[in-house]
Amino acid sequence: MSNRTFTMIKPDAFAAGHIGSILKHIEAAGFKIIAMKAIRLSAEKAGEFYAVHKERPFYGELVEFMSSGPIVAAILEKENAVADFRTLIGATNPAQAADGTIRKLYAKSVGENAVHGSDSDENAAIEGSFFFSAFERI
Ligand code: GDP
Repeated sequence: MSNRTFTMIKPDAFAAGHIGSILKHIEAAGFKIIAMKAIRLSAEKAGEFYAVHKERPFYGELVEFMSSGPIVAAILEKENAVADFRTLIGATNPAQAADGTIRKLYAKSVGENAVHGSDSDENAAIEGSFFFSAFERI
């Protein structure tokens, strides 16, 4: 069990002005921000980040969406960070997300679903390093 996870506030939530509200949920749930930046992914970079989904039918849509506007990327710290953050954000499809979760509150659809949360400790480390150098983290 590691104490760090990686998140992105996706282009839909960024464009809708939900960054402050989402960060408030994250901090209220006990996560500390270890690194954070606003950035716009190129289609190439978005494709690289989501390469694991390359064979899925929605890969093209996902890459297009994730490069459609700026995002906020962050590394978060808390005990049991990966699992607790997945609980905080809720199911991939906001229609199936539990009440009070970030996706239930702010996501538009299964594709434009407001936030990303790493699904394992291993991926949290890989994804954090995709965006941040050691110099950029606390
Ligand atoms: P997550 O771990 O909850 O983010 O879900 P997945 O790993 O299954 O999918 C990664 C991301 O791909 C999701 O967060 C969505 O943004 C996107 N995605 C998943 N399923 C679909 C889909 O059916 N259609 C579209 N357009 N995007 C999807």
